[in-house]
Amino acid sequence: MPFPPSKRPPRHCVLCGHPELVDARGLGRFLLVPDPEGRGPICPQLKGCGVQRQRERDNATLTPSPR
Ligand SMILES: [Zn+2]
Repeated sequence: MPFPPSKRPPRHCVLCGHPELVDARGLGRFLLVPDPEGRGPICPQLKGCGVQRQRERDNATLTPSPR
């Protein structure tokens, strides 16, 4: 067995690589959430790269489409 069952390695956000429940960048510890598009665990909306994603979505909503 590569890992003992009681100590699994943390999952990482598939978008930014943030380890789950580890305060790696001073962002705090938080659980990852499943990506709605099925890519894997990602930061929640209010933590880690989720904050940036939400900001981009807000900009996309506010900015009219170039087309
Ligand atoms: Zn992330």
